[in-house]
Amino acid sequence: MGQGRALGPDAGRRAVLARATAAAAAALVGCTPDAAAPIPAAWVGASFDRGHRLRSAQQLPPPALRRRAGAIVVGAGIAGLAAARALAAAGVDDVQVLELEDSAGGNARGHAMGGMGCPLGAHYLPLPGPESIEVAAWLHELGLLRSELGRTVADERHLCHSLQERLLVDGAWVEGLLPPVDARGAAQMRQFSARVAALGRGRRFALPAHRGAWDDELEALNRITFAQWLDAAGLDDARLRWYLDYCCRDDYGAGSATVSAWAGIHYFASRHGFRAPGEAGSDSEGLLTWPEGNAWLARRLAAPLGERLHPARTVLRVTEGRHDVEVLAWDEANSQLEAWTAPRAVLALPLFIAARIVESPPQPLRDAAALLAYAPWLVANLQLDSPPLERSGAPPAWDNVIYGRAGLGYVDAMHQSLLPRRGATVFTAYLALERSERPALLAADPAPWAERALREVELAHPEIRRHLRRIDLMRWGHAMAIPLPGVHRHPALQALRAARGRLRYAHADLAGYSVFEEAFTAGCEAAA
Ligand SMILES: Cc1cc2nc3c(=O)[nH]c(=O)nc-3n(C[C@H](O)[C@H](O)[C@H](O)COP(=O)(O)OP(=O)(O)OC[C@H]3O[C@@H](n4cnc5c(N)ncnc54)[C@H](O)[C@@H]3O)c2cc1C
Repeated sequence: MGQGRALGPDAGRRAVLARATAAAAAALVGCTPDAAAPIPAAWVGASFDRGHRLRSAQQLPPPALRRRAGAIVVGAGIAGLAAARALAAAGVDDVQVLELEDSAGGNARGHAMGGMGCPLGAHYLPLPGPESIEVAAWLHELGLLRSELGRTVADERHLCHSLQERLLVDGAWVEGLLPPVDARGAAQMRQFSARVAALGRGRRFALPAHRGAWDDELEALNRITFAQWLDAAGLDDARLRWYLDYCCRDDYGAGSATVSAWAGIHYFASRHGFRAPGEAGSDSEGLLTWPEGNAWLARRLAAPLGERLHPARTVLRVTEGRHDVEVLAWDEANSQLEAWTAPRAVLALPLFIAARIVESPPQPLRDAAALLAYAPWLVANLQLDSPPLERSGAPPAWDNVIYGRAGLGYVDAMHQSLLPRRGATVFTAYLALERSERPALLAADPAPWAERALREVELAHPEIRRHLRRIDLMRWGHAMAIPLPGVHRHPALQALRAARGRLRYAHADLAGYSVFEEAFTAGCEAAA
């Protein structure tokens, strides 16, 4: 195996000048070529060499260090951090957490540019619904939620400020993300709204999803794609279909032709429902957000661990024995192997990785690894020295989406700022990619990807290059499990969730799709 030190986020930063040619950029922005000066672009945040070490980890050297713990958690994403917290709260002494990256948080890690926080991945948490019991309890503990006269009230400072969302359509911004439609489109939206409401009765859709009821109708929804279900329902309005496809790509990393009909309905029915134009209520939900996204939450979960959190430890092998679990971890800083033992361990990492590192993986773990397909994502943080010019229509929002595009739009990191005037900021552009694009995403040169992200934002702000200082790019090769037909509640995932040996599993993968509530609850349940 390779013993060289893998590159950390900073050491690994390859500052490469994006070679946007003056001519091409000038044509795009319709302004003077000097606005198209090369843009510094760099990859940040992911230590691919460490992940790839797993592939060559057949022959391991003898451990340089042996350590014993009360419990070991592998992976310090939201699930692992929640598991460690729950174990400590249950009185388990000496919980030790081993994490591959240099910092905790997993998909919910943050970044900073020009002194401004920005997300590398997950960026918001909807206010918890009735089944998110553990999440709600923790938010109360943090002071983000409080009870007032029997009602749950959220701390306004952390709720997404107005305007939450806007859509660029027909040359102007409109509030919300639903595109304007004609009478036929509106009728179809009402029809979809009624179908979602009917299917959602009886709390069949919950967050976390496994706490919802399950029946034959949901099983049937889980067997076909969302697009097939919409076709069968005669819901073919182009604008409605774009919106529903966007929602799937935004939450699941794959479109309506790929995810299950259960997942497509779950997006709405487990949260705020779907409101057609003119229907009572709001289509957007109350949500908590921070400039650095869910890293704000991850840091608060990680802080109490102190020195019991061990970053830069790539776990290469996990062996469940009769009395103990042995975990072999590569210490990236000292280039040596550590052997940890504990009476129990929680594997809080993607299941395809768990299947690689567990010695003689049980059949459900093999099946789960074969079952799950992962969406690659690109997250581009654009540091701006001043806000770009605005088009007509709705004012700047936290989430800004462009109708008809494959890109998912951008989030303004300074939207939550209380400063009286808009100034320097970071726009975080999200792109859910096709699985076939994964090899290209691993290429050394960030310039083409910076250019691609920039072109998306440029459609809304044609002179943005004039404001741009730098682009930092985070590439997620296996960002999240896609809820393909048949994935949610697959027997293999159910078996791993129910595992009660010394080795337990905790990751959003257990739900077959990835959101904070699934990860946090999986961690709590594995520790229980
Ligand atoms: C771009 C993007 C945007 C998202 N936006 C949102 C959002 O806004 N809201 C939301 O709710 N969800 C969002 N999500 C989903 C997000 O994945 C979940 O919210 C949640 O953070 C998943 O946590 P997890 O612990 O299950 O998994 P992960 O975050 O995958 O955590 C697994 C951890 O295990 C570590 N690990 C892996 N291999 C090893 C090894 N061999 N040894 C040691 N450690 C290892 C990883 O480094 C990682 O820290 C987003 C995801 C992405 C990628």
